[in-house]
Amino acid sequence: MSTLPPPMGLLAELTHRCPLQCPYCSNPLELKRASEELDTASWQRVFGEAARLGILQLHLSGGEPAARADLETLVASASAAGLYTNLITSGLMLDESRIRALAAAGLDHVQLSFQDVDATGADHVSGLKGSLARKLAFAGHVRDAGLALTVNAVVHRQNIARVPQIIALALALEAGRLEIAHVQYYGWAFANRDALLPARAEVDEATAIVTAAREQLKGRLVIDYVTPDWYGARPKPCMGGWGRQVMVVTPNGEVWPCHAASTIPGLIFDNVRAKPLAEIWQHNHAFNAFRGTQWMTEPCQGCEHAERDWGGCRCQALALTGNAAATDPVCELSPAHGALAEMARDAATASPPPFRYRRIGG
Ligand code: SF4
Ligand code: SF4
Repeated sequence: MSTLPPPMGLLAELTHRCPLQCPYCSNPLELKRASEELDTASWQRVFGEAARLGILQLHLSGGEPAARADLETLVASASAAGLYTNLITSGLMLDESRIRALAAAGLDHVQLSFQDVDATGADHVSGLKGSLARKLAFAGHVRDAGLALTVNAVVHRQNIARVPQIIALALALEAGRLEIAHVQYYGWAFANRDALLPARAEVDEATAIVTAAREQLKGRLVIDYVTPDWYGARPKPCMGGWGRQVMVVTPNGEVWPCHAASTIPGLIFDNVRAKPLAEIWQHNHAFNAFRGTQWMTEPCQGCEHAERDWGGCRCQALALTGNAAATDPVCELSPAHGALAEMARDAATASPPPFRYRRIGG
C-alpha cells in the first residue's frame, strides 16, 4: 500500500477565457478555447474525486472562472463535497446578484486581483479600459455578501512605486489579507520579462515598505509577500515541491503538477476524462518525474536544503538552462546563477518594450 500523502489543494482552471490580457498571466502561451473545456458534470465528478482523495482546498481559477455560466452550480457541488472553496477572480464578470448567489451556494473566500491602483496603469496592464472602477465596485459586493476577501496585487517595474497605495487600498476595502506578489518569470511573464522586471534597488525598497507595514498593521491586515525569484539567493519550493501539495486541472481536463508543466518536453500528462484523480496523483508520469529527490543532479543531490526547497522550479530551470532537471539558476550554488544575475541586470536597465498581451490564438 502506498504511503503517498494526498495533495492539500486542487487548482481548477475552469476556463482560459478572460476579459483581461495581463502580460504576466500564469496561463500557458497556448490557451484553450471554450469548445475544449470540461462540461459541468465532469467538473462535478472531479470535485467529488478530489474530496475523496483527501484534498481540502479548491481554488477556482482561470482565466476568469466567472466566464463559466455554471460557476454557481460548480461552487454548490464543491461545497457539498466538503471542499473549502476559494474563487480567484478579476471581478469583472460578477454583478451583485451573482456574488450573492455564489455566497448562497457555499463559496468560502474571494481573491480579487488588482493590476494597479492607478486607473491608467490598470488599463495599460490589463488591456481593458475602466477595469479599476469595476473592481472597486465588485469588492463592495463581496463585503456586502459577507464573504472573506483577499486583495491580490502583482507588482513589476511599471507599478512597484505604488506599493504604499496598494496597501492603503487593501485597508480601504477592508480585506482580511493582502497578497503582494512580484511577477514570477515563466509563461507570459517570461515573454514580457524586459517590460516587467524591476531593478534590485526598487525591489529592496518595496520589501522594506512591506516589512514595515506588516509590523504596523499586525492584527488588522495580513500581508503575504512573494519576492521575485531572479534576485534571490535560494529558490522557493515551487508549488510546495513538485507533486507534493497541489494538482492543477486545466480547462480541458489535463492534470499538471504546476501551471507551466506543459513547457517541459517529454512529460506525459493524464486527463480526468480518462482516469480518476487518485490514480493520476499516485501513478502519473509527469507527477513522478520530479517528485522527491531521486531525480536531482549536482549540486542539489545531497544538498542539505534538498527537502526544504526541492531544488526550486523545474519550469524556470528549463527556461533558463534548457534542462528541467538542472538546479534552479535562482540558487547561488547553480553554475547558471551568474548568467541569471546578468540577465536580470540587463532586463531591468533597458527601457521597457511594449507588452505582448495574453490573447487566445496569440
Ligand atoms: S492574470 Fe489577468 S489575464 Fe490572466 S487570468 Fe488573471 S486577470 Fe485574466
Ligand atoms: S543546490 Fe539545490 S537543494 Fe541546494 S539550495 Fe540550491 S536549489 Fe536548493
